[in-house]
Amino acid sequence: MSDRRIGFYPGSFDPVTYGHLDIISRAAVLFDVLVVAIGQHHAKPGLLSLEERLRVLEEALAPLRERTTCEIKLAKYTCLTVEAAQRAGAAVIVRGLRDGSDFDAEVRMAQTNATMAPEVETIFLAASPSARMISSTLIRQIAEMGGEIGQFVPMEAADAVRRAIARKNAPSGSGSDTE
Ligand code: ADP
Repeated sequence: MSDRRIGFYPGSFDPVTYGHLDIISRAAVLFDVLVVAIGQHHAKPGLLSLEERLRVLEEALAPLRERTTCEIKLAKYTCLTVEAAQRAGAAVIVRGLRDGSDFDAEVRMAQTNATMAPEVETIFLAASPSARMISSTLIRQIAEMGGEIGQFVPMEAADAVRRAIARKNAPSGSGSDTE
């Protein structure tokens, strides 16, 4: 195994937000290699396809890659997060914390992961004040209601979300809003 410090940042990234990018840029300072990994749950297909999430992340990461010495890689996985981290050669899983409910869920997950793979440590980065309220779920909800999301997500993510919503609404015809 190499002696490079490898961090593993897992998430759904549906879509990637400025909150995620903030965590990625801060984690990039801590590691030689940072693997940003999209976890795919078969039961939760999400709004954006896996390919769209990867493409959007690829584009959104371009400016950061230019100004960091950390090698930022993209990956996808369907197995358990700890297994994916181990396969990537990472000793550390990075997660972001926004509030108390993130804390409760994240600590539970970190402890479960530590039980399964004690050699993989989880570290938490506190959300930056400016990005604290951003969540992918909220972004999808705002966009579904026709709201502007450009201040919360990079341009390529906003475009992909708009296209995915248009696609989702198209087959059943417009005018079927029930909420
Ligand atoms: P998951 O479905 O695994 O929670 P997400 O893509 O929603 O995937 O989030 C991935 C990670 O990024 C989680 O640790 C989450 O707490 C963190 N995160 C999400 N949004 C923000 C934000 N605005 N600021 C800081 N961390 C965030």
